[in-house]
Amino acid sequence: MKRLEGIGILLTAKLETEIFDMVKIELKNISFAYQIGHDSFVSVLHDLNLKAESGEIIGLIGKNGCGKTTLLNILKGKLISEKGEIDVINENKTVIQRHYIPLVSQTVDSNLFPSLTVYENFCIVKNKRNMLNFYNSKSLYKYCYDLLCSANMNLEAKIDEQVRFLSGGQKQAISILLALEYDYPILLMDEPTASLDPFVSENIIQLAKQEISKRNGILFLVSHNLQDIIKYTTKIFVLSNGQVKPLDNYEGLSETDLMKLM
Ligand code: ADP
Repeated sequence: MKRLEGIGILLTAKLETEIFDMVKIELKNISFAYQIGHDSFVSVLHDLNLKAESGEIIGLIGKNGCGKTTLLNILKGKLISEKGEIDVINENKTVIQRHYIPLVSQTVDSNLFPSLTVYENFCIVKNKRNMLNFYNSKSLYKYCYDLLCSANMNLEAKIDEQVRFLSGGQKQAISILLALEYDYPILLMDEPTASLDPFVSENIIQLAKQEISKRNGILFLVSHNLQDIIKYTTKIFVLSNGQVKPLDNYEGLSETDLMKLM
């Protein structure tokens, strides 16, 4: 805490979940290619169309290298599509700034500062939210402690430890918990639980799902764990040959059935 005050970071926190209006995502005719040489490109997405709206938990599946990560990065605005249109709006047609959408990626700890403690990382997230609604440091610390308890991984015992000393699974869980702290109506998860054991993985996905549902938002989940996809999502899109197709009725499908559709 002292350390943070020393480097002049403002601490902000908002302890209530924000409820958003209806939110909608629409991708129209999106095409994207990576440039790999002066004149050579790898074409990944071709005239892709996709719609998602409030309350949907979207599972995005497809073979390795089919473009799932690329698509999430385009949604977040990290990659710019060469063609097409992306609308991310809420009910009163306000355009939502895409670069604020939290993306939890398979690269463990990509969202964390390794030489800061867990609590310091949490404070940075709160500061980024720029909510000048300050809480005293004691209640902020307690809030962070309770948040860590919610994962049921004994993460609270690591609150004052530097992130670089944590295991891959612990870092990944913290990264997801912190992504949820942005109180954003949309969350993108790219293989979020690859380094977590099944118990923790279930816990974390449930937590993300609950939070996003409370916000009437949209969750995108990319996972090779097709059981998770079947269990947690409300809609599945299969990405193949640069386009997505919705799977209309997948209730009762097994992992093997789903694999055949990829
Ligand atoms: P997925 O997430 O479905 O495994 P990706 O979106 O990571 O697929 O990759 C889609 C395709 O784009 C792959 O053929 C991959 O090799 C290629 N690709 C990904 N990132 C880059 C990059 N930075 N430069 C060039 N090609 C890339």
